[in-house]
Amino acid sequence: MLRQFELLEKIKSYDPEVEEKALNKAYVYAMRAHGSQLRESGAPYFSHPVEVAGILADMRFDSSTIITALLHDIVEDTNIKLKEITKNFGNEISKLVDGVTKLSKLEGRSDNFNQAENFRKLLLATSDDLRVLMVKLADRLHNMRTINYIKDRNKRKRIAKETMEIYAPIAERMGMQEIRSELDEICFEVIEPSVRETIVKRLNLLRSQDENILKKTILQLSELLNKNNIDSKVYGREKKPFSIWKKMKIKSVNLSQLSDILAFKIIVDDIEVCYSVLGILHNVYSYVPGRFKDYISTPKPNGYQSIHTTLIGPMNRRIEIQIKTKKMNEQADFGVAAHWIYKDKLKVKDGKQYKWIRQILDILDQSREPEEFLEYTKLQMYNDQVFVFSPKGDLIALPIGAMPLDFAFSLHTDIGSNCIGVKINNSIKPLSTKLKNGDQVEILCGNKISILPSWLNLSSTGKAKACIKRFIHNKEDDEFVKLGKKMLLNAFKIESISFNEKTLISILEDFKVSSVKNLYLKIGQGHVLTSEIVIALFPEKKLIKQSKKIILLNQVKKRREIKKSSILLKGLIPGMTIHYANCCHPIPGDDVVAYISSGKGLMVHIENCDSLKSTKKKYDFVNVSWDKNLNNSSNFISSLNVVLSNKIGSLGNLTSILSDNKSNIRNLKITERTNDFFKLNIDIDVSGLEHLNKIIVSLRTSTLIQNVTRL
Ligand code: MN
Repeated sequence: MLRQFELLEKIKSYDPEVEEKALNKAYVYAMRAHGSQLRESGAPYFSHPVEVAGILADMRFDSSTIITALLHDIVEDTNIKLKEITKNFGNEISKLVDGVTKLSKLEGRSDNFNQAENFRKLLLATSDDLRVLMVKLADRLHNMRTINYIKDRNKRKRIAKETMEIYAPIAERMGMQEIRSELDEICFEVIEPSVRETIVKRLNLLRSQDENILKKTILQLSELLNKNNIDSKVYGREKKPFSIWKKMKIKSVNLSQLSDILAFKIIVDDIEVCYSVLGILHNVYSYVPGRFKDYISTPKPNGYQSIHTTLIGPMNRRIEIQIKTKKMNEQADFGVAAHWIYKDKLKVKDGKQYKWIRQILDILDQSREPEEFLEYTKLQMYNDQVFVFSPKGDLIALPIGAMPLDFAFSLHTDIGSNCIGVKINNSIKPLSTKLKNGDQVEILCGNKISILPSWLNLSSTGKAKACIKRFIHNKEDDEFVKLGKKMLLNAFKIESISFNEKTLISILEDFKVSSVKNLYLKIGQGHVLTSEIVIALFPEKKLIKQSKKIILLNQVKKRREIKKSSILLKGLIPGMTIHYANCCHPIPGDDVVAYISSGKGLMVHIENCDSLKSTKKKYDFVNVSWDKNLNNSSNFISSLNVVLSNKIGSLGNLTSILSDNKSNIRNLKITERTNDFFKLNIDIDVSGLEHLNKIIVSLRTSTLIQNVTRL
């Protein structure tokens, strides 16, 4: 385990301004916090955060990142709360530690790696600071280095798969080749031990054929470049089993054909020299066609730059060669972190220091729109999306602001349609809950369709809204069909004609509809009057009735006779709109009639409303009555004319009587005022006629109120 002074020396070597005091404090704090906890290896737990800090120090990160590394498992694994961290180390560190803790909670949540891309996005969305992600990567790297201490083989495999699918690609995208390849090699050993074993054997065989080939090749290449006055450094290595295996799969070569296992790097000072080196090599050795790639003129999406070529090199062995500058090399190994190496340059206050962060963001998500100004190291990735888990561990991406119904309809229309509730993170929540990153969402389903019009306000995705709308529309049509049929039956009854549905078929064409059902629909929606149907079927009726208005008034008069077939108000589905006329303000208990206002729904008036008598419009009246089961708490507006004595306190008296009777004032207007009295018009909330009558009686008992009448 790295000791305190060793860690400090490491950091000092690249950052003389290291926050020594805070670092020492964090070291001791973490050691005490983890106390006697042990790792699976039997080592003290504290060795883990220290090693993670060491990895980040090797990558030359700033003090805050390294302090975060030391503290990263405290909130998750000890009794110490985040508040304590804030108190001891301040807001910046506390935010970083909290970020790492949140990422840790997402580990092991999903076995379904088909959605690895979504999972990576979730990690990026959750870590709003680049350094949080770096600590997590270093944490994962150390856990992978020590994975063999985990005894359960399946658990090892699961962790390795997760690493390979999720974390290694993140390292790759951040341009951290070194970490990516180390993670890959360890995972390969855990997941495919026998494949790896075969490759290792082949490597051993090839090596035994010429033990010094690596050294000899480096020497020959260096001499060649020296002779041409090129200042360079040549490095050589044997390729690693996983990268060989990957190449075998891509190029579909088998193991016996495998010969180019050596890779060399030639590091020079600047870009022109890279091309000179290439010229010299291609001049002396023959190169393998199709293997040359110039990533200097065309960098990889993650910013990687280098020239690649394969030669039949010294001793006629196939070798791979990368030619790059020192800076390109550092960039390739450390990726994002390489920028910290030039930390002082970050302090330039002209905004240019953010350029590299923007570049990284572009690399991480190429679909992203160019952002305006980015705060220092702030990621804020995917802040237009939210990622949630299904009970099976699938990860679903939804637009930000999505609610449980959006999730339900995204899984399947049936799951949405039958939804009766939702559990979020195992507790029942309202359907209006906005989903958050990492939530586990479980939709509770009934066995029949339960869509309500109000669901339109409980969903935000197009898919959910479209499903809900389509359903309401169909249901509304059904309701209009039923209404139309009822209206037609009533009309026949009034005319004392016996009703036969089959006769309607003969007049379908006249009304431009294809079926009897559609005819009912048109009547129900108010596009066709029942009297028009009667006349179409029985032209002689036209002679008897002089005007439509008489028919209509007759209908109203006869309504008691046919009350049985009247339609219950509120008994209609909620999606169908019912309007209560503003002229007479009908309330439950009033005798009412209604007509279909074309395409809009039902307009309800009090039976003897004056506006009905004077209307010149032709309507189809519908007999309606109040649903006895009407919820008592529903509010209807009623309008009263009140005459008050012009005395102090009379208005107060009025309002207190109303509030004693549990009624709200909606609107109040003084219409006339004299020395003795004033007249008011007030709109109040009532639950029905009974309620209104009680209020009127109470008002009349007051000595300050001279008169009350319903408008
Ligand atoms: Mn850890």
